[in-house]
Amino acid sequence: MAPLTLEQLTAAADAGEIDTVILAQVDMQGRMMGKRLHVRHFLESGYKESHSCNYLLAADLEMEPVPGFETTSWERGYGDYTMRPDLETLRLAPWLPGTALVLADILDHHGMAPVSVSPRAILQQQVERLATLGLSAKMASELEFFLFKESFEDAESAGYRSLTPISPYNEDYHIFQTTKEEGVLRAIRNGLYGAGIPVESTKGEAAAGQGELNIRYGAPIETADYHTIAKNAAKEIAWSQGRALTFMAKWNYAASGSSCHVHQSLWSADGSVPLFHDANGPYGMSKMMQHFLAGQLLHASEFTFFLAPNINSYKRFQAQTFAPTKAVWSSDNRTAGYRICGADSPAVRVECRVGGADLNPYLAFAALLAAGIAGIEAKLELEPEAAGDAYAETGGRAIPPTLRAATTALQGSSMLRTALGDDVVDHYVHAAEWEQIEYDRRVTDWEIARGFERS
Ligand code: ADP
Repeated sequence: MAPLTLEQLTAAADAGEIDTVILAQVDMQGRMMGKRLHVRHFLESGYKESHSCNYLLAADLEMEPVPGFETTSWERGYGDYTMRPDLETLRLAPWLPGTALVLADILDHHGMAPVSVSPRAILQQQVERLATLGLSAKMASELEFFLFKESFEDAESAGYRSLTPISPYNEDYHIFQTTKEEGVLRAIRNGLYGAGIPVESTKGEAAAGQGELNIRYGAPIETADYHTIAKNAAKEIAWSQGRALTFMAKWNYAASGSSCHVHQSLWSADGSVPLFHDANGPYGMSKMMQHFLAGQLLHASEFTFFLAPNINSYKRFQAQTFAPTKAVWSSDNRTAGYRICGADSPAVRVECRVGGADLNPYLAFAALLAAGIAGIEAKLELEPEAAGDAYAETGGRAIPPTLRAATTALQGSSMLRTALGDDVVDHYVHAAEWEQIEYDRRVTDWEIARGFERS
């Protein structure tokens, strides 16, 4: 049941408690994009549908209408999509005064067919593939971020230079330091919890100013929704307290990056029987889990783009930083890209450690599931475990080190073309190529500092 029903929203509007409903779709970057509706308008008609410009699935991080997409363009006149609220996602947004929010699915302008390149539709398609196999998935995403003493406004006017992380030292698991940050973090935990999002915890992470947010695992769409709302809420709450907070994969060369580890397990269709567990298998892994993991390893390079979608994402993959460089598996070993957690228990699961906090969860989960399904269908054998320090291992399967390499692998992936459709793969290859072009023609601070005087 939705965290907030239409009846409850009506009652809250009548009581003067809610006056605004945020209606948002998810863009290619995993951001909430949409409008604020007066609650009365939402209750009269907005709950059925609204409209948005279709460039929202053809723009880059800076809202540039990127040329060359098949779905829309200046030639096609940048028309509308229909936003259809998914009323199961209707909830309070307690950190914003008098506000509720709801996420929308994207349909063509006539409100008939799902838009294939919409991230929520892409994940829905893989969830349906699992259902036809009599399976369901449970997933969790662990989001890391950096919190700063400056406000977003001050950070921007300083050109994002000389920022001051909220803590002066590595605060991994620190209670005292995180006590000093409770103004923001407690508001994030309680705000999300009040929105019906099952927050588990926050903690300090392994750099000055770094933290992590954990939300209880759930069905893939539900978890991706939580993740998307949580990122938006965390920024809104930090902003409201005069602090800046970033989910960039790597904001500073000298600091560790921010990851988004993805925990995954498969269950019976009704979600009651954990199918990854077999007490007699290695680490308690069932054959199905081994095939699923083998599929992810075989296709790891092909879906890296969906785990690392920006130029900046690739700066995170540095040895001895807890971010992986190798797509190999190991049990309870944080140097491997794929870690087995919950070994020898019904909670045994695959943790993919490759993704950065800048990933789009719908796309990342869809690609991971597609690769896992491919492994199950082909009954792939799991390769031997990588032991010890995976960074130092020679010959282990490397994660594509650049966006360029990941884009080439995505372009050539027959697995993803079959699972997601050629139109979807071509759309995201085009997005990746645009990101690369935008970067390649820029002159960076690093080049100027290095070469201005000395070249
Ligand atoms: P930590 O790594 O911080 O010790 P946990 O091991 O408790 O945390 O779990 C990490 C994440 O994995 C949590 O967000 C949790 O909800 C999720 N998780 C736990 N069990 C499963 C499962 N069977 N399938 C998918 N995710 C799970």
